[in-house]
Amino acid sequence: PVDRSPEIQEARLKLPILAEEQIIMEAVSENPIVIICGETGSGKTTQVPQFLYEAGYASSNGAIGITEPRRVAAVSMSQRVAKEMNLSDREVSYQIRYEGNVTDETQIKFMTDGVLLKEIQKDFLLSKYKVVIIDEAHERSMYTDILIGLLSRIVPLREKKGLPLKLIVMSATLRVEDFTDNNRLFSVTPPVIQVDARQFPVTVHFNKKTPLDDYSGECFRKVCKIHRMLPPGGILVFLTGQAEVHSLCRRLRKAFPFQKNNAAGNALPKIDLDNYSVVPVDEGDEDRDTETDDDIAGSDIDLDLGDGDSEEDEKSDSSLPLYVLPLYSLLAPEKQAKVFRAPPPGTRLCVVATNVAETSLTIPGIKYVVDCGKVKKRFYDKITGVSSFRVTWISQASANQRAGRAGRTEPGHCYRLYSSAVFMDFEKFSAPEITKRPVEDLILQMKALNIEKVINFPFPTPPPTEALAAAEELLIALGALKEPPMMGRLTQQLAAKLSCPISPLGRIMATFPVAPRYAKMLALSRQHDCLPYTITIVSAMTVRELFEEFDRPAVSEEETAKLKGKKARLLQMQRIWAGQGPMQMLGDLMVMLGAVGACEYAGCTRKFCEENGLRYKAMLEIRRLRGQLTTAVNSVCTDAGLYIDPKMKPPTEAQATYLRQIVLAGLGDHVARRVQAEELLDDKWKNAYKTALLDDPVFIHPSSVLFKQLPEFVVYQEIVETTKLYMKGVSAVEPE
Ligand code: ADP
Ligand code: MG
Repeated sequence: PVDRSPEIQEARLKLPILAEEQIIMEAVSENPIVIICGETGSGKTTQVPQFLYEAGYASSNGAIGITEPRRVAAVSMSQRVAKEMNLSDREVSYQIRYEGNVTDETQIKFMTDGVLLKEIQKDFLLSKYKVVIIDEAHERSMYTDILIGLLSRIVPLREKKGLPLKLIVMSATLRVEDFTDNNRLFSVTPPVIQVDARQFPVTVHFNKKTPLDDYSGECFRKVCKIHRMLPPGGILVFLTGQAEVHSLCRRLRKAFPFQKNNAAGNALPKIDLDNYSVVPVDEGDEDRDTETDDDIAGSDIDLDLGDGDSEEDEKSDSSLPLYVLPLYSLLAPEKQAKVFRAPPPGTRLCVVATNVAETSLTIPGIKYVVDCGKVKKRFYDKITGVSSFRVTWISQASANQRAGRAGRTEPGHCYRLYSSAVFMDFEKFSAPEITKRPVEDLILQMKALNIEKVINFPFPTPPPTEALAAAEELLIALGALKEPPMMGRLTQQLAAKLSCPISPLGRIMATFPVAPRYAKMLALSRQHDCLPYTITIVSAMTVRELFEEFDRPAVSEEETAKLKGKKARLLQMQRIWAGQGPMQMLGDLMVMLGAVGACEYAGCTRKFCEENGLRYKAMLEIRRLRGQLTTAVNSVCTDAGLYIDPKMKPPTEAQATYLRQIVLAGLGDHVARRVQAEELLDDKWKNAYKTALLDDPVFIHPSSVLFKQLPEFVVYQEIVETTKLYMKGVSAVEPE
């Protein structure tokens, strides 16, 4: 029996999924695999684990496991469910790559999808679970897709053993055909339970014109208008990235300052969400959030607001306090949690978010959504792995998800900052992640599970052949797979069909929770006591974005000066961290090592990070990953006896030289050579480097400490395309 507080009980009763409890539990008891579909906010993530718990699916020898594609969701959902059930985090716990609070008593465990994949490697039958829930399957994250493929085989195996495992796949949208109409995946089509989404109508207002680039400015103007002219109700703004989120937050706070002491006396009525009656909309009313502005023109002019600017917006107006909160995945968890609390009395809530608010988190009390229509995504070249961040239009499915956020508690409005014609050109759904990025890490994990013929795996959507071939070739080059008994270069078709088994080295590499190139570096670092350094470098390269970004547009001259000062300080520190002599040749990797070393020496405090341009959250993640990698190394070589020394000394000259060899071994396919004088036919090759994979010139990124030195040979962590192809994480190598 679960002892819930009366408030929680009342809130639960309003969730649409509660009406389906019996149907869901019957389906689960009669079928090994069940698919549950329901709008975001209908209660899937928070309630289904509780249904299962109450029906006795959690016991001392079997837990309920739930996977989430995002870390934010795994942590916050475990806390929410614990609170709803009045249980402690010892019983309802979470595990994400860097941390967790799982205990022997854990009965409900939230984790990221990558964590469950690692567990399958240790225990293929997942014997400690009675139920596995794959949440947010519509996001089609790479690991979620693989897990569904693996579980489609694990479930029948558990059945045969007489220890049945239940699989529940949960998804926010109706597009489940990739799972249901795929008889290689599930030979018997699983039942799909549709949760009747108690969604209120959302009126969609398209802009007449689509702003060419200044969508942030357009967001600002739209929020100002909503706040000045429209009735109470929270505002949720979708932007694409952290810098944009912050800059809009600052502008809005300046326009509608909110002082803690004067807010209480202000005129805006408190929003009492509990007093709104809850009426279900008609079933099958799928167009409810895609009405065009033509439908409402004339009838509702005031709500339409119109495009474009108005002079008064920038004026500061403290009589209308706006409670502005940022939300993005790199934000500290305690700051993220603020969006779930009621705004201070007399203020209106305005959350400025990236894509994280689209489906994983439901923010209470949102009545207005402002959607810029864009998303920032990392794009990879499937073969070369060159990546770039691009801001692109979202899919129609995403746009509708975003609009839906406005209709959770009462009828709402969604302002799309693009025209309906532009919307019609959006793709229907975005492509699954697995089809869009290099897959070497995935293939190594699969080979470690003894899935040799990867091409035969029941993928919900298979990765492209050329990506499979590139992955297989890289893993052979790293020594992680046994070389095929053939000479010469393989054709792509052949390489993809190859089923090279994993090598003993590959098995060791697969136990490290990092990319295969970095795992190779770890596996080579026994000599010269280099392991602590390699672990640190690999952790820093895996966590990425160690340094604060100071090249962002500022709102005032004062701020511009402040940013300039901070940037100068960071550059100075980076030169110090880069060390001298052979250490310096390690380049950016030495800077990472030096930065982590200095930060740990100072106790890894927020203050140290802020003063020196380091990202505090990244430093904490690096600390955790170092701990985890240290444990992983100790368990494969039991005599290593590694521990983390907070006062780690810089490497000696001999060690620095050896570290460069290790780095070269891991990044062997990422070598670049400075273009020779005689090749400088064209100006575009000035200061350029040539790589094996690309025809175009690549350059050392200006943020690199080797930017001015231009060594003859370098290895790089990655190539990112912005205005040019830039190498990041650069380190110099000796020609042989
Ligand atoms: P779904 O998984 O179907 O999208 P959820 O189970 O995540 O739905 O959410 C159900 C309800 O629980 C939502 O109304 C949401 O606002 C509420 N909720 C979720 N997490 C929290 C939290 N940390 N604090 C308060 N309310 C929350
Ligand atoms: Mg959910």
